[in-house]
Amino acid sequence: MLTGAEYLGSIQDGRRLYFDGELIADPLSHPMFATNYRNAAEGYDRAYDKDAEAGPYYVIPQTVDELRDLMHALADWDDLAAVTSQGLTALLTAGARMSSQPEYAKYSSRMRAYHQYCKENDLRCVQAITDAKGDRRLPPSKQDDPDMYTRIVERRPDGVVVNGAKLHITAAAVAHEMIVMPTKMMKPGEEDWAIACAIPMNAQGVSIVNTTYAPRADNPDYYPISSHANSTEGFIILDNVFVPNERVFLAGEVEHSATFAHALGLWERLGGTMHMAECADTLVGFAQLIAEANGASAISHIKDKIAEMVIYATLIRGCLEAAVTHAGRTPEGWMHPNELYTNAAKHYGGAEFNIMIRHLHDIAGGGVLTVTAAASSSTRQTGRFTRRTVSAPIRREAAPPMNSPAPMNRCSSSCATSGPPSKIATSSSGNSSRTIFTLSALVAGVSSEGLSMQTLPAAMAPTKGWKSRPDGKFQGPKMSTWPFGS
Ligand SMILES: Cc1cc2nc3c(=O)[nH]c(=O)nc-3n(C[C@H](O)[C@H](O)[C@H](O)COP(=O)(O)OP(=O)(O)OC[C@H]3O[C@@H](n4cnc5c(N)ncnc54)[C@H](O)[C@@H]3O)c2cc1C
Repeated sequence: MLTGAEYLGSIQDGRRLYFDGELIADPLSHPMFATNYRNAAEGYDRAYDKDAEAGPYYVIPQTVDELRDLMHALADWDDLAAVTSQGLTALLTAGARMSSQPEYAKYSSRMRAYHQYCKENDLRCVQAITDAKGDRRLPPSKQDDPDMYTRIVERRPDGVVVNGAKLHITAAAVAHEMIVMPTKMMKPGEEDWAIACAIPMNAQGVSIVNTTYAPRADNPDYYPISSHANSTEGFIILDNVFVPNERVFLAGEVEHSATFAHALGLWERLGGTMHMAECADTLVGFAQLIAEANGASAISHIKDKIAEMVIYATLIRGCLEAAVTHAGRTPEGWMHPNELYTNAAKHYGGAEFNIMIRHLHDIAGGGVLTVTAAASSSTRQTGRFTRRTVSAPIRREAAPPMNSPAPMNRCSSSCATSGPPSKIATSSSGNSSRTIFTLSALVAGVSSEGLSMQTLPAAMAPTKGWKSRPDGKFQGPKMSTWPFGS
């Protein structure tokens, strides 16, 4: 296994990364890439075990319990580790689905060998599936530019040469390899576009044009989430890239061109939806905390809104639990989540997410947009005024200092899993105003930073007074209890 430092060494491999139109000479020290590299390196260090055969990301679940563990782990690991696990497991799933047809046995065995190669070298891979697609009305073969969909431009005895682009690829800049898959089902006549393979990021002909939602300013008070949880997103350009046969997993067989996308969707959704569940719990906790801090938690429409948020969180978790409990088994004998429940959870989570944000904004009030940074409550010039005006109206017992995490049951009697009814802060201590500032800033961050839910759970560390976990992440409240009676 690699340590974080070894990972950072391994990634300096001559890859071509662009940002704002410029080739980046030293990505590790570039401010827009630094957090992404640091988080990936920390992921390596967290998992490092000198006695282990391999990192946990390469596990192939053999039982329902192992599948459940993987589902929870996907939401805990850093983004790069999670996409690695999802991409490699998707490859194995696709290989398993092709394995019953003897003509595809070579591809299935190459995919298993590639999984083993990544495991032995502790590599991180991204999922490169989304093509540029050009004119959406036209199939690949009718596009003005045939490279709008990634394609084979030359077949050689020892491999293939590919051209095209893969867009929006999360963490491409910080991974070792990309797993290329067809973006959709290809039809007869579109054989050249039915290409699945693995390509190292530093291969000849690969360039990555990056963006990131890392903040362009450095005050974490104003960027409570993206200042420490951000990822690069890359447009990968493939310009006559040679792929040797052992890394080619599909080369023209259109009947299996969609097998990869379906397999990836399954694992991607399992992890993504687990993130949604954790995010939903956290948003419920925010809503409850702000309602309590404002003395609004007993108002009936506020309770109704929080109840609706709890239902959202619970339905996602329920569907995920069903996806694992009703897991299927591949021909090789390992487990995969139930497709229907996984897809239902993902669809519901995405379709109704706006309710969570709408209720949270409504409950939090104008501070979501106008709250000043926490610093405003601590200086001599503005502190007294801001503490008076934004402090909780009800007297509560003393809160812990903002810099020391407190037991989770302090956050609220209704959103905690156990423990006595809690108190948030005392108006005389001055901590109540900071609680509100921090929460409002985080709520604001949920929407104004435009972040994906994927990044949200990792971003909760600034919320002092909530439970922090040994892995350094923040633990949101679990909705194992119904907070409002039956
Ligand atoms: C933050 C983020 C991270 C991502 N990470 C990855 C990643 O790691 N790897 C990866 O491969 N991809 C990734 N993606 C890409 C993502 O999968 C695509 O954005 C998504 O599949 C939609 O494709 P598109 O952006 O090209 O939009 P389009 O496909 O153009 O869709 C836009 C709209 O047009 C409609 N539309 C388009 N074509 C048709 C048609 N023929 N018929 C009917 N309706 C049509 C769609 O339904 C949709 O409403 C990421 C995207 C985001 C935002």
